[in-house]
Amino acid sequence: MTGKAVRVNVGATAVSGVYFDGRSSRDHPATVTLTEQGVTLNVPDLNVTRTWPLPEVSVDPAIPGVRRVVKFPDGGRYETTDDAALGAWERRVGRNRALSGVRWLESRWTAALGALALAVAAVAAFIVFGIPALATQAAAVTPRSVLATFDRETLKVLNSGTYVGATKLSAARQAQLQREFREVAAWAGGGYAYTLLLRDGEPGGPDSFGIGPNAFALPGGTVVMTDQLVALANSDRELMGVLAHETGHVTHRHGLAGVYQGLGLTLVSTVITGDLVSASTFAAAVPAALLRGGYSRAAETQADEVSGRFMLERYRTTRPLQDILARLESQLGDGKDAGDSKPSVFDLLRSHPGTAQRIEHLRAIERAALP
Ligand SMILES: [Zn+2]
Repeated sequence: MTGKAVRVNVGATAVSGVYFDGRSSRDHPATVTLTEQGVTLNVPDLNVTRTWPLPEVSVDPAIPGVRRVVKFPDGGRYETTDDAALGAWERRVGRNRALSGVRWLESRWTAALGALALAVAAVAAFIVFGIPALATQAAAVTPRSVLATFDRETLKVLNSGTYVGATKLSAARQAQLQREFREVAAWAGGGYAYTLLLRDGEPGGPDSFGIGPNAFALPGGTVVMTDQLVALANSDRELMGVLAHETGHVTHRHGLAGVYQGLGLTLVSTVITGDLVSASTFAAAVPAALLRGGYSRAAETQADEVSGRFMLERYRTTRPLQDILARLESQLGDGKDAGDSKPSVFDLLRSHPGTAQRIEHLRAIERAALP
């Protein structure tokens, strides 16, 4: 009797792990049987047993501490922590050979720990220093067509009725505001497709949490302003001061930089792994990131400077924006900080910089321009 006689499948290795069908995020316990000809997946939960020939299956390179991933042509994926079994099979069938030197190095403890420390340091440095700088640069070079896509996708989310509803302003009032906004947009320039969307910021309904008096800009030049902000203003100059501030966020591409910064790690992992699932997750995450993301203190200051220039040219004073910011603060200021349960989506009255500082900054802009 020999050992070989009882081994049904010469050279086969069964590895246990979990399976994702590519449609839902639910995992199912599964095993794969690895042979020199291919991979057989067995998912008892789903009553699935399938075999793919070797060339149709892709195996992600090993990264220390990360589960190994086997991808199937139908979009399913299999993940396992049993790197040893998968590695042995890869060596046998000649998969991921280019990485074998790296893997050999990584299998040695000292080298592995050193590499790990280096990787942690690099990632930390990238998050702290690299992402904001890269995000700003990436925002600056993002093509117009992509900006338009971001606006369109975000508006789909907005128009779902959760955040805003159809405006209740009269047709005449809407036309007047549109006319005034066109002047602001023409002044702002930069070749953006400026569009003012007037919306009800308190649409009601079961899933609604209205955004109240507010305005915000999307990267491509779409600017949303709520009926509640229009009602709060004592003059249209105040509203145009707000809208000029929003065009400042557009021309300086602040929203886009915020998205890139917020999604930095997702983006990095997409690039590293070349994972199409992550890439589509990235695209789908843009509206949420745009709506959730705040601007940095520097971005707010920059947008206020843009509005300050507009108001000085047109009105010889920065008072309109100062006044409406002060009124917003006195009406809504309490409990509207970072800890508020509402998303900090919308642009006015963010906690950084504080309203008092912004008003002082606007006064200083006026003093500097009009001695
Ligand atoms: Zn702003």
